[in-house]
Amino acid sequence: MINKKGLLLVLSGPSGTGKGTICKKYLEKNKNVKLSISATTRKPREGEIEGISYYYKTKQDFEEMINNNEFLEYASIYDNYYGTPKKAIFDELEKGNDVILEIEMQGAMQVKKAYPEAVCIFILPPSLLELKNRIVGRGTETPEQIEKRFNSAYDEIKKLGDYDYFIFNNVVEKSVEEIHGIVYSEKNKVIRYKNEILDMFERELEKC
Ligand code: ADP
Ligand code: 5GP
Repeated sequence: MINKKGLLLVLSGPSGTGKGTICKKYLEKNKNVKLSISATTRKPREGEIEGISYYYKTKQDFEEMINNNEFLEYASIYDNYYGTPKKAIFDELEKGNDVILEIEMQGAMQVKKAYPEAVCIFILPPSLLELKNRIVGRGTETPEQIEKRFNSAYDEIKKLGDYDYFIFNNVVEKSVEEIHGIVYSEKNKVIRYKNEILDMFERELEKC
């Protein structure tokens, strides 16, 4: 039929809302979807692996990558740089593989600007109270960091209007199903594949 270029999916939303959890489950169920590995200047946490969790960089190396225009987007979050290296992503999209980015919101908006075909999904918590419980329950941040992340959550939710889709992350499996639905619909959007479809019929017509 037609060669469909891969879809760039961006999962974003406040810290602790469940992006990482949903992303992991979605990738387990969709082996041909690639996760973008970000670069960061943050130190590795216990159990994290170079090249799988992140590419860990010094500030100097990260800034060199910025100057060499190697990022699709980058942001400074909680005193560290985080960025999405662009080459690997575009290579996968060209091969027809979907790529998923799990990034915070400043970065998501930069992606949308640089690559408007990206599908930006806002992962919402069921409530602010549940969000706080999840951040605390995860146990990866200090009390100050928890407070900082929780306090910025409502301001982040106010940016919902910049996104294409929202998902209330009540039950992880249901959220994953909703992403499947979004991807299915996006892959049948006329605007995405109109040229490829018309080319296909034109080529056939030439042979008739
Ligand atoms: P994020 O990546 O958005 O910061 P995480 O995926 O790390 O968030 O999730 C934060 C915490 O909430 C984790 O402890 C995770 O197990 C838990 N969690 C995620 N989704 C759900 C859900 N639907 N119901 C209950 N707990 C959840
Ligand atoms: P953590 O330090 O907990 O791994 O990540 C902190 C925040 O940075 C999370 O909200 C995560 O989604 C975001 N993040 C991870 N990688 C990137 C990236 O490449 N770009 C941007 N803008 N944010 C990222």
